[in-house]
Parts: sequence; C-alpha cells; structure tokens
Amino acid sequence: MSERRAYVDHAATTPARPEAVAAFAEEAARTGNPSSVHDAGRGARRVVEESRELVADRLGAHPTEVVFTSGGTEADNLAVTGLARGTDEGPGLRRPRVLVSAVEHHAVLDPATHLSAREGAETVVLPVDATGRVLLDALDEVLARGAGGDSVVSVMWANNEVGTVQPVAEVVARARSRGALVHTDAVQAVGRLPVDFAATGLDALTVSAHKVGGPVGIGALLVRRGVPLAPLVHGGGQERGLRSGTLPAALVRSFAVALDLAIAGREAESARVAGLRDALVAGVLREVPDAVVRGPWPGGHPGARDGLARLPGNAHLTFPGCESEALLFGLDRAGVAASAGSACQAGVQQASHVLAAMGVPDAEARGAVRFSLGWTSTDADVEAVVGVIAEVVARARAAALAG
Ligand code: PLP
Repeated sequence: MSERRAYVDHAATTPARPEAVAAFAEEAARTGNPSSVHDAGRGARRVVEESRELVADRLGAHPTEVVFTSGGTEADNLAVTGLARGTDEGPGLRRPRVLVSAVEHHAVLDPATHLSAREGAETVVLPVDATGRVLLDALDEVLARGAGGDSVVSVMWANNEVGTVQPVAEVVARARSRGALVHTDAVQAVGRLPVDFAATGLDALTVSAHKVGGPVGIGALLVRRGVPLAPLVHGGGQERGLRSGTLPAALVRSFAVALDLAIAGREAESARVAGLRDALVAGVLREVPDAVVRGPWPGGHPGARDGLARLPGNAHLTFPGCESEALLFGLDRAGVAASAGSACQAGVQQASHVLAAMGVPDAEARGAVRFSLGWTSTDADVEAVVGVIAEVVARARAAALAG
C-alpha cells in the first residue's frame, strides 16, 4: 500500500499556515499583558486591537462586535447560554426558548440541552431533510407557538460532518420577524464560503482559528452591538466584561493573519478544492460503486440534488457492510488520515446524530467516512485515497463478516 501520507481531515483541523505560525512565534517571544499600562502592555494591546480590526473587517463586523474566546466551542457556549440568559443580573432566562437544528455541533446542542435540564429552558430541536438542511416550516411553526421575543435560534452556517450549507439568510429573516435572536456557528463556513456578519443580520456568529489555518485555542464570537449577552467567564473584565481572561496576543495575531489569508484567497481556493473533492468522490464511487454520498449531491440519494449547497472540501460517504472504525484504521495504515466526522469518545465511535437526523438507518450510518480537503490538498491526496479505498473497504467488509 501507499507510502505517501495524505491528510484529508481538514474539517477536524486544517494545517497552520506558515505566516500564522511565524506571527505567533514573533509575538510569543514578546512580553506584555494587554491590560498592563506600561509600554510592554501597550504594545501587546496594540497587537490585539489591530488584529481585532482585521478580524472584524474580514468578517463584516465592527471591531467592538468581536469577543475573543478560546475557540469555537467556547464561542458556541457563550452564544447559546449567554443569549438565553441575556443578562448577568439576577437568576432566570430572559429568553427561555432555545431552538437548535438537529445537526448542530455538540458545542451548540449540549449547552442547549443543559439549559433545559438545569435552567428550565424549553429547548426545541428542529428537524432536517435527507440532505441535512433545516426545515424552515418547522422553524416557522415553533416560532409561531411562542412570543418570538422569548426565543434564541441557533442554526449552523455549514455542517461539519456532511457539509450541508444551511439557509442562514432565510433563518434570520424568519426568526427576526418574530423578535427572536439568531446565532450561527460558522466554524466550517468561514474561509470557504462568503461570510458577512452585518449583511446577514445575525445577532451572533462563531468562528474558530484552527479551521482557517490559524492556531488551536483561539476563536471569536461576533456579537451585534446592543444585543444582551450574559458572560460565562467572570474575572478581570476583559472583552468588555463578556469574556474575562488575559488576552493571548500571540494567538490573536496568528488567528488574524490566518483569517486574512484564508479570506483573501477564498474564491479561487474554494473552486480548486471543490474540483479535487469532485474527483475524489468520482474516484471512490468508481472503486466502490455501492458507496453512498451523504449530504447535498447530484444523484447521491433521493432528495440530495443541490450540489451547490455543500462545503467545497467535504466528501462524506457511507460504505455498506463496513464499520467506520475499521475503515479509518485501514485508511490510516494505508497512509490516509480521514475521520468519521462524528464524535469519538475514548476511541469509541458514537453513532452520528447528524446522519440519524437525516434519516440514515443506523446500519448504514455505521460505515461513514468523511474526507475533507483544504488549502494544502493536491491531486496526489485524491489519488492516494482512490488508490487504496477498494482494498480498505474489502478488508473492512471481511472484518465485519468475521466479527
Ligand atoms: N462547531 C463546528 C461546526 C465545528 O466543526 C467545530 C470543530 O470541530 C467546533 C464548533 C468546535 O470548535 P473548536 O475546536 O475551536 O472548539
């Protein structure tokens, strides 16, 4: 089998860009707490504020709307819980209804569940169609049941497992006409699709650095000015009291550098990566004709027709008669780093809540593999996958029959 290693797991984390690594190294070598008043502190503060301006500009936000967090997970938690609580003063939820799509990342689903278990929220999980797209009629129906102004809606921009792009503009229009606040987890969308915070009319948006070629451990929640948000982390009052903690100037700068590069080259790069992705899918289907593409895909399965409404680098397939663990193990041995796309706890693959919500039977969902491409991907990566997939699947099938 192949000697070359192919990294096709960009949706899990994309390699850091050299410019972002250099920016981190340069800044990390300097001393200075951005909150200190002396010269070193002011220098660090300057770096943070210039980076904030860059992040805001590239995402269509105002600098005061950027709240730096430790990453996408924290930003999602802050959005869901912070918008529902609405204020740091007094107990109770100002917006006790939380509407989330069934295919959200656990960083959104779990705080929503937690709010209902611990703080009395009414959490409503919105269904999706066979491609993973949220059903707008269901959103309308749930919003019509309440006062609207009592609700927070969180629907992701694009799904991390099957790549489905959600109708964010329609979600915002419907939710806002009823007075609900809207958050979107744009972790997978930023740098791959055009994302403009102000233009979409969103109240909050999550972004994470390590999905755009920046470092792990930094991200941001964009929060529209005037939107009431209760902080989760209390302390030194940084980020206008919305997220305490010493600002990591080196991470912030590295994040801004990576984001700038990702957005500058986005259009051409997304087209290039989509071409590779299409070649990968075609090659895999040639080698394993009974594999099934999940998510929006022309002819992939009934209901999956909209080829445009999918992340450019995402190829998600299920292989009948296989367990994903065996497939991933076989791919890894053959030099291909992919993933199943769903949560993995202590090495044990959990059933995908995304595929279940799309109506994929459990037996089929068990054989899922997500190949995700990005800025370092080349034809050689596609060839590596296509070159080994038939043998890997044959072995996984044999193992399933024997086991
Ligand atoms: N939301 C989505 C859609 C993601 O894909 C991820 C990462 O896998 C996250 C949130 C979490 O982001 P982070 O790893 O920065 O905490």
